[in-house]
Formats: sequence, structure tokens, C-alpha cells
Amino acid sequence: MRYDKRNRTALDNLAPNTKAAAYKWYQFCLDNNIDILITETIRTKEKQAEYVAKGTSQTMRSWHLVGQALDFVPVTSTGGTDYTAYFQPDIQRAIAEAKRLGFKWGGDWSGGWDKPHLEYQYKGYGMDKKLEQAREDEEPMTAEEKKQFDELKELVKKQADTIKKLEKAVNVSGNQSPPEWSLKALEAAKKAGAITTTKDKSQSDLVNIQVLYNLGLFDPGIIKLINLNREEVRNAK
Ligand SMILES: [Zn+2]
Repeated sequence: MRYDKRNRTALDNLAPNTKAAAYKWYQFCLDNNIDILITETIRTKEKQAEYVAKGTSQTMRSWHLVGQALDFVPVTSTGGTDYTAYFQPDIQRAIAEAKRLGFKWGGDWSGGWDKPHLEYQYKGYGMDKKLEQAREDEEPMTAEEKKQFDELKELVKKQADTIKKLEKAVNVSGNQSPPEWSLKALEAAKKAGAITTTKDKSQSDLVNIQVLYNLGLFDPGIIKLINLNREEVRNAK
């Protein structure tokens, strides 16, 4: 790259995201021995007004003003610039790469009159710099705020763990398998017809079932007795 230093100086003036994309493109040119000269990147309002007056630019809303455009020209083997060389295969490859990276090429515009021009529309006109500026304007956290933030994060994490434990205990999902200690009571309760399934029981369900089991209320003999008693009561009426 014959004008490497000059090119980099020009690229460094671009808005941050445009600059990052432009350097990727520039690296592609380097890797493929595509010799170019970057003639202009960011432009002042006065310069733009001059271009409009001369007719070399048609708008005061140039993407150059906001650092989101660059102009380049193919460089010949003798170091000259060749404004007729944009359709040479290697330059076309470079332009294709620029488009792949998100640039718009001025040669694609009606009449194709702005072949040196690549612009990076990013998130909109002037947005590249503004976004970066907005980030810079954000006040960094003080040490105290950072400490509070970290404590808050820790608290949230602890609460999440507690919630998980609670959910498990009350069996929110309904598919928690019952603990070992409750299995006998659950089986007995199911056999006795007190429950239809041993699954989806909360902790307090399990305790209640266990209490009834401990009292012997799921015992087949007891069940039989209760039913007999019921029958007697009915018959006596
Ligand atoms: Zn341009």
C-alpha cells in the first residue's frame, strides 16, 4: 500500500463504528494487494458548502460531515491515481467487500456519479458519533454506587436461590417426586382412596397425609370399620 500512512490518518478521523468497519475493509485491500488512496473522510461544513457551490457534491447533508463516509481512488503501479479504474476486477472486489461490511457505494446511485464514495449508514445519519458521544457522556459509577450495585446483585441471586428452594418445597411444578419419608403414608393413603396420586403433593400436603397415616386412619381395617359404621347409621335412620 503506497499511501498507507496517509490512508490511516484519514481513516482515523471517521466516527467510531464507521472507522471500525472501514479498517476491516482497508485490511481486505491490504491482504489482496489492492492499492488505493483514501482522499477524504470527515469534512467540515465550510468544505461541504464549497463542494456544493462547485457542483462536486449535491447535498449539505453529506455523510462526510458526520464522519460516516470516505472517498477513495485506485492507485496505479506508478503511484498515480486513476479515476477511470473503478471497474477493474480488484477494485470491484474491494467494493463488493465494502458492501458486505455494510457500506453503500456511490457508484450504485443513479448515474453512478460518485464512484469514489463509500458511506456507512449505520443506525442513521449522524448516529455513529452521537451514540459514541452518549456513551462517553454517561457518568461512570462511583466506588460507593458500584459497591451498592454489587450488593444488590448478590441479594437478587440469593433471593433467586430461596425462591427455587421454596418452589421445590411447595411443588410448584407439580412433578417433584415425594421424599423418601412420605412414601409409606402416600401409598397407604392412595390405597385407602384418600388421594388419587402420590405425585404433585406440596410439603404441607405430605405432612398432613403423614399425620393421618400415623393415626392409623389409612389402615384397611379402620377403613372397613368406618364404612360399616356408616352403613349402620344409614340403616338406623
Ligand atoms: Zn464521498
